[in-house]
Formats: sequence, C-alpha cells, structure tokens
Amino acid sequence: MKKLILGVLAFLVAVPAAAQTPPMRSIVNITGQLYRAQNNNHYTVFLVTPEGVIMSDPINRDFGRYLKAEIAQRFKVPVRYVLYTHRDWDHASGGVVFADTAEFVGHENMLVGLAAPRGNPPLTPDAAKLDANKNGVLERSEASGGLADQFALYDYNRNNIVNGAELARGPISDVYAPTITYRDRHTVTLGGKTVTMTYLGTAHSDDSSVLHFPAERAVFSADILQVRRLPGGLAPTTGSWIDALRTINALDFDHALTGHALAGTKTDSLMLQQYLEDISSGVAAGIGAGRSLAEIQKTLTLDAFKGFERWDTNREAHIAAVYATIKGTRRDAAPGTR
Ligand SMILES: [Zn+2]
Repeated sequence: MKKLILGVLAFLVAVPAAAQTPPMRSIVNITGQLYRAQNNNHYTVFLVTPEGVIMSDPINRDFGRYLKAEIAQRFKVPVRYVLYTHRDWDHASGGVVFADTAEFVGHENMLVGLAAPRGNPPLTPDAAKLDANKNGVLERSEASGGLADQFALYDYNRNNIVNGAELARGPISDVYAPTITYRDRHTVTLGGKTVTMTYLGTAHSDDSSVLHFPAERAVFSADILQVRRLPGGLAPTTGSWIDALRTINALDFDHALTGHALAGTKTDSLMLQQYLEDISSGVAAGIGAGRSLAEIQKTLTLDAFKGFERWDTNREAHIAAVYATIKGTRRDAAPGTR
C-alpha cells in the first residue's frame, strides 16, 4: 500500500514536469517553397512567395507564435493568408496571431459552426454527471478533466457557465473566423503562386476543404486524408468519406500531406479510398449473405490494410458503423471532431 501511495505521489509530481516538456516542432521542406510544419501530433503546411506566405491551419496560439517568428526570420515576409481545413479546435485555433497581416479563408459552413450557440439543449449524459447542483448547466467549479482544461474554449459568452448549446458547439472560442468564405471552390493567388481550396462535403465535419498546390503537385487535408493510417469515426456516413476521397483524388498531385502522422503520395490517398470502398462493399455483401455484425467483423479482415496504423483499433468500429448505416440504426451520425 505504501508503495502504491508513493507511486501515486510520483505521478502527481511528474505531471507538472511533463506539462513543461517543450512541444515537438519541426519545419520540413516538401518541394520548391512548400513546407510542412509540426506541432506534436498536428501538422500544417505553408507556401512561401515573394509577396508573403500562404499557410493552412494555425493549430494553436503558441504554435502560431512560433511559426510566425520562424517564417519572419527565415523568409523575411509576412503571412498573408490562413486557409482553414475545417473548424475543429485542435487544427483551427490561434489564428488571431496572424490577424495583423493575414486574410482568413474557410468554407462558408465554418461561419455557421462558429456562430453564437443558440437555445439550451440538455447537457450530454457525461456532462450531466458533472452538474452537481442539477441546474442544467455547468459552472466553472463543476467542470473537471478535459472540460476544465477547455472551459474557456467552450464558454462562448464568457459568463463562467457552459450550457448545452455551448457544449454542442465545441471548444472553438479561439478559432479566428474566416474573413473570406466560399461554397464550392476558391483560388488564392499571391506572388505568382496559386492555391485552390475545394469543398469536401459532409465527411468528418461539414466545412472541410482540401488545399491543392498545383505547381508543387501537392494536396493538404487534415483528418480526412490519412497516410497508411485508418481514419477516426466515419461520420456522418462512409459514403460521405468515399465522396471526399474521390474529390481529393480527382486532383492532380504527387504529395499527399496530412494533418496527422505520416505524409505520403497519391498512391496512399488512393489506398485510403480503396479501404473505404472495400469496407462498404464488404459489409453490404455480408448483410446480403445474412451474416451478423460479429460474423462480418470476424471475416472482413481487410488484410490489404493490415499494416496501417489503427487497423487493430478502428477496423471493427468502422464495420459496425457501415453495418448500422445500412440497417438504419446508426446513432453517431453527427460529424465527429477528430
Ligand atoms: Zn477535425
């Protein structure tokens, strides 16, 4: 028992030390003047032109300050455009760092998602457990864990209360709103370079864009495009993911740049599309043959993708999601956040 207590104390002491570990950061040249920049498990890209930089997601304020300083020191030009892949807090936060020199471009649905949260729907079951005084909202003193860490990011109107609508909106209060929005496709031109943003539909979130750098033969997409790694939840439908990958793969490119983990080539992007198509047709065939979900999960092994990161953890959940979609019983159809 004493040993256990000491172990717990060591853990408590270790936490502040771990929190001070500097984030893993790097800037890697992809081709020409296109770079990929890392902040721990998140990545963004930027293109340097004689008139300034066109970058993608700012990730967060601290990383934004780092990137701004690195760009100023290495290239002596300001950031002129921030092009958002989507509104999720872990990619889109911190843009205010670049607001003195940049325009911000995002899909028009981003503005809808960032708007003031309306109404007061009930707290989610998990959040309701934290509601000690049972008044239907969370005071700051009631929040714990991740919700305590992100309280200010949820608290849209800064009244030290998070209600059901603020919770549903997500922890996006530090996302700097787009100053320019588009519907289907949008081209940014600067210093003789172009970047095109194309809407990806409803996969993952309803405001996703793929960035295409035609001269550099590269694309960048966060969360939807993955290289040798299975996606997170295939919400709202696997069909929406197949559509998004088809839109990406219709572009002419060599470099497949992602918001997480490995970057790769067009072959990798085509393989992800193949995975989604195989899982869709495999589950449909299993249902057609009268198999149960458990039987399909056992037999639809998708061996061609066995070496992919998260194959162990996500394959069965993806099969269950497709199964539920076909059976009309899917419950997690709201867009996910990772
Ligand atoms: Zn996301």
